[in-house]
Amino acid sequence: MSRPIRSAARALCWPNISWRTSLRAELRGRKIGTPGRRRVFDLRKAPLGPRLYGTTTKAITVTGGITFRQLEENYYEQAKALIDGGADILVLETCQDTRNVKAGLLGIQRLMRESGRKIPVMVSGTIEPMGTMLAGQTADAFWSSISHVDLLSVGLNCATGPEFMTDHIRTLSDMVTTRISCYPNAGLPNEDGKYLETPQSLAEQLDRFANHGWLNLVGGCCGTTAEHIKVIAQMVEGKRPRAPKASAHRAYYSGIELVEAEDGKPAADCG
Ligand SMILES: [Zn+2]
Repeated sequence: MSRPIRSAARALCWPNISWRTSLRAELRGRKIGTPGRRRVFDLRKAPLGPRLYGTTTKAITVTGGITFRQLEENYYEQAKALIDGGADILVLETCQDTRNVKAGLLGIQRLMRESGRKIPVMVSGTIEPMGTMLAGQTADAFWSSISHVDLLSVGLNCATGPEFMTDHIRTLSDMVTTRISCYPNAGLPNEDGKYLETPQSLAEQLDRFANHGWLNLVGGCCGTTAEHIKVIAQMVEGKRPRAPKASAHRAYYSGIELVEAEDGKPAADCG
């Protein structure tokens, strides 16, 4: 890919998409709403690129209270409403539970089959300060779990801000055969809920990632402002994007952690 790194105009976290009934109603007017934040965007006027497709309030592994099939159906409905409403890219973001991601991807794939249309899909995980997703998976195991799907990009967003993302983005960059996205928070919020990374300090850390050749898409999540995005966009202007890795043709398996089947390794007992 020779095109420069793209910066997301503004990446937002919508942590609650249990509003699908109101979403569907609002989409009839080509509007998308987040009642929890009392915020409404006109899809054609909103300064967002892709439409974000959040985490839901339920995680099969973490909270329970929902089945895989129910979640798949919910994701299908929401994807359909978003695409009918004019969205052209779907982003499964702030992913904390790979079972949810798989349900979401199956819902989207069903929509693609039914509509006969290929929908570009981005997946963005969230790694907590303890170094794994909330449901416990590491970044490389997460990629291994979804690497069979034809995705526009895979990456990380939200959570810790860029500093603690470094190892995980590097890990993904070493493995991922599609593009890498990264849109961190403006740092970890302090005890008052304030995000302390300035536009300059956030951009400098993402600049480091870009200079290592780890990124294809960059942006900001919680705590970032239009000024953050402006400075990040200026920073990545003209930078060389990461070249996706060719498949390593290795046999990876994942539970919580990644397991690689190697010649000469004794049989691994999984499960
Ligand atoms: Zn966020």
